Amino acid sequence: MVNVTIDGLKLQVPKGTTILEAAESAGIDIPTLCHLKGLLPDASCRICLVEIEGNPKLFTACSTPVAEGYTIYTKTEKVIKARKFVLDLILSTHKADCFSCAKNGECQLQNLCYEYGVEKSSYQQMDHGYPIDDSNEFFTYNPNQCILCRKCVRVCAQLHGEGAIAVVNRGVKSRIATPFVKLLKSSSCVSCGNCVSVCPVGALMPKSKERFRSFETKKVPTTCTYCGVGCQLDLIVKNDKVVGAQPRDGEGNKGLMCVKGKFGYEFINHKDRLKKPLIRKEGELCEAEWDEAISYIAEKMKAIKAESGANAFAGLSSARCSNEDNYVFQKMMRAAIGTNNVDHCARLCHASTVAGLATTLGSGAMTNSIAEIVDQDVVFVTGSNTTETHPVIGSMIRQAHRRGAKVIVAEPRRIPLCREADVFLQIKPGTNVALFNGMMNVIINEGLQDQKYIDERTEGYAELCEVVKDYTPEVVAEICGIDAEELKKAARMYAKADKAGIYYAMGVTQHSTGTEGVMGTSNLALLCGKIGKYGCGVNPLRGQNNVQGACDMGCLPTDYPAYQKVFNDDVRKKFEKAWGVELSAKPGLTVTEIMNAVEDGSVRCLYIMGENPMMSDPDITHVEKALKACELLIVQDIFLTETAALADVVLPGASYAEKDGTFTSTERRVQRIRKAISPVGECRADYAILSDVMAALGYENSFKTAEEVFAEIASVTPSYAGMSYERLEKVGSLQWPCTSPDHPGTPILHIGKFSRGERALFKPAPYRESAELPDAEYPMIFTTGRILYHYHTATMTGKVEGLNNIAGNSYVEINSADAAKFGIENGEIVKVTSRRGSINAEARVTDIVNEGVLFMPFHFADGPANMLTNTVIDPIAKIPELKVCAAKVEKL
Ligand code: SF4
Repeated sequence: MVNVTIDGLKLQVPKGTTILEAAESAGIDIPTLCHLKGLLPDASCRICLVEIEGNPKLFTACSTPVAEGYTIYTKTEKVIKARKFVLDLILSTHKADCFSCAKNGECQLQNLCYEYGVEKSSYQQMDHGYPIDDSNEFFTYNPNQCILCRKCVRVCAQLHGEGAIAVVNRGVKSRIATPFVKLLKSSSCVSCGNCVSVCPVGALMPKSKERFRSFETKKVPTTCTYCGVGCQLDLIVKNDKVVGAQPRDGEGNKGLMCVKGKFGYEFINHKDRLKKPLIRKEGELCEAEWDEAISYIAEKMKAIKAESGANAFAGLSSARCSNEDNYVFQKMMRAAIGTNNVDHCARLCHASTVAGLATTLGSGAMTNSIAEIVDQDVVFVTGSNTTETHPVIGSMIRQAHRRGAKVIVAEPRRIPLCREADVFLQIKPGTNVALFNGMMNVIINEGLQDQKYIDERTEGYAELCEVVKDYTPEVVAEICGIDAEELKKAARMYAKADKAGIYYAMGVTQHSTGTEGVMGTSNLALLCGKIGKYGCGVNPLRGQNNVQGACDMGCLPTDYPAYQKVFNDDVRKKFEKAWGVELSAKPGLTVTEIMNAVEDGSVRCLYIMGENPMMSDPDITHVEKALKACELLIVQDIFLTETAALADVVLPGASYAEKDGTFTSTERRVQRIRKAISPVGECRADYAILSDVMAALGYENSFKTAEEVFAEIASVTPSYAGMSYERLEKVGSLQWPCTSPDHPGTPILHIGKFSRGERALFKPAPYRESAELPDAEYPMIFTTGRILYHYHTATMTGKVEGLNNIAGNSYVEINSADAAKFGIENGEIVKVTSRRGSINAEARVTDIVNEGVLFMPFHFADGPANMLTNTVIDPIAKIPELKVCAAKVEKL
């Protein structure tokens, strides 16, 4: 520690601390215009000058480390004079259009000039007359207002990891060359807007459709609704309307956001929002009052229950809704209706994670925390297009790479993260199990396993050795279509690293061998002693914003909240006591089973909250047939989705901006969402609608607020028992398990002891091929995924003009060799066919996919990829094989 005195205050700070950091720790304000937390100082603005006793010159506080005995002054006459001089110089190059500048009121330069009494520059004002660049969909760049603090350049290169912008020219002609400026022909800009967020002046400004001054707005802290990273942000609200979004320094996002979170808020106040309940009358959906709609539903439901019993009902809950909404949904299905037929789209994404990791480790969730990524020596990404699906985690991986971490990517597509990859294994879709077995074969043969860890903390090692011994690098290279030497390199890299984490998503889980793939990641990590340690772990990246929470809340056919089993007598008794009713011990149906049961008539009423199976489920033709056959289809959503359009009753739910609640992010972090605006039209919070339905069914439920629901969640959910809104308000967020009010939460699982007990389990499996492989009729492997600019079935992102302008249509990626073989030109519309149907889409001729592979995003209704996908399921987790089926592509 180092002893220093700042403005008369004696401090002890760690060696290496800068003067700026030391002052901040003591609450002493030193102005900066170029400083970015977490990055090396730039010291380009020089406004942070301070005086150190005994030194004639001034020092920049952001770049000067403290030394023992320093006496520092931050507000002397000399310091003030120097800062005024700096402001004077900056103003000479800044076109101070304060009357017309939208930044007026929150411009840091304006505020400092006001504070230091600098009204205008004493130098000749430079006016370059640069044109304003408005070529980006979401923001403009005005070089005339740029003060060259270079925050935008550094956030892009060093935090976001793209490096899309740079300073060009020299001296007074220096300016930021942005990719969206017509200066550059090509661009790697992904419109994340992090440059806009850090700009201290009005040079980079969002293109808001609303004109507003900061003093006319309020900022409401909340959690992003677009992916499992759970970025913290402020919604900016003017006149009860969301007009902007600004990142906060959350534990998971550290001040970063992606294009969807930053600019994708337009859907909230979109004209197409559902504003009143709808009831189908003579084939048409007609507006109705709430009382009418609830009574209508209750009457029909009671009649079905009287005739066919509780198991004639099924419900699909939502990974997009809050924990409170999901908790009440499963409670309605179980306590008010009496069935365990409740599931949600986790079945389509990470059911294999829940099943696989629960078996091997005892808990089906990310073992470690996002913040650890930047500290790792090796990051192993497999089955995840991280920079597009979890963009801020992708940025963290790029930050780790900048700091020297090695990156291994094993993916069927040449994804953007391959740019950082030290090893890229372009595996054939569906061969993950062989890949993991091959890596373990190398590790064991070369003695790189952690034998002490294996002996002390695991069981089943002999069985593992027996299975993986056949998966030599040569055998695996043949199965996966990769180079045996590269496989060895990856295995050694992972095994030898001190801190190495595995990150995976649906490229591992959405297979008929999904659970075995997940257990393969766990086997690999256990073999190398990398679970229960900082910077390591097995980390499933949960796709939707609250898919972790929807699972935690018991929206699964076998589980009450916190994965307590419905068939366990003691557990069931606990819930019977808490809810005051007798409960069913019979496990319910999964998503795919529900669709079959709806089609065969054994399920007569289907209640869907915030899901769109008409786009997200495999084999949409079959889904449509089932939904059309459903006797009573109730859909609760914020838009008239493809699914809602088929409903008998549609109930308008509130968006995340219109209600209180919590989301649980992919790192098990429970975070608040807060009501920022009044509900649009007559829409209502989902939990409130469900409470009314329950009451109409005769189950009195008195939830008046989301906080009341959360209190009940904590009372029956051991892993959430120590959480409350009051505590979350104080600490910001908590990671489960958090079992008592003084429990700090759990950033890393399985330290010392596994959730399943003393030892983790090796659960090896031989490789099995995907259920449907190419043949003479369907010679290609068809695979699906997401892209950066859209979220799930595009219900929300599809309402954002800028996102649609960047990526608004369905397309299919085809390798250039295949395109040449089939005579297909880039950009032409082609027909893609599988055994389940055909769709037309634009051909993108590319080398992102290998020969023999077709890729389509599943977001777009104009070419719905899930028309083609296979319903065959993993026998353990019952997740469909969305990632592999056989297809053909033809010219039209
Ligand atoms: Fe963050 Fe994900 Fe939202 Fe992007 S979509 S801002 S990465 S939570």
